[in-house]
Amino acid sequence: MSPPWSKPLDIDRLADGEADIDFAVPLAELPRLRSQLASVEGMVRGRVHFTRESGLVVADMTVSGAATLACQRCLHTMTEPVESSVRVALIAAEADASRVPEHLEPVLALGGRITVGELVEEELLLALPIVPLHVQASDCAVPVDAPAAGGVPHASGAPEQTTQKPFAQLDKLLKR
Ligand SMILES: [Zn+2]
Repeated sequence: MSPPWSKPLDIDRLADGEADIDFAVPLAELPRLRSQLASVEGMVRGRVHFTRESGLVVADMTVSGAATLACQRCLHTMTEPVESSVRVALIAAEADASRVPEHLEPVLALGGRITVGELVEEELLLALPIVPLHVQASDCAVPVDAPAAGGVPHASGAPEQTTQKPFAQLDKLLKR
């Protein structure tokens, strides 16, 4: 069964009903976000309220949570907090963008339908850094004691191959 945030919703009906929708969206399942970022995990939650303003369907959305991204300097994970509140105008066709007043961001709801996931994705594409980096270069994990592949053998590892056989020498001696 598809999660509620992935269901296409009729924006006119939502606006007429002044609907409120609570959501929880796993970021790794948003395809456009995933294609833009090397790695994205985490979850955001929030609420979207639909209404009308000057003949347009408007969505007020608050989103909060955290995105786990890969730092593009050290490739280790970093957490980017997400905390935003937006008011967007939903338009059924790109031609309607000209009707959107300047203080509203137009978001395309093709054919008058959109999923909560698409709305969240639209916001996160703007909110998250395209090239995520740890704020301080010193926060980047320096690979000093990183468990390198094929690195230093562990004391608790497999028994050594070169185990000495104390009687091997004795055997040789006895054969003399
Ligand atoms: Zn880093």
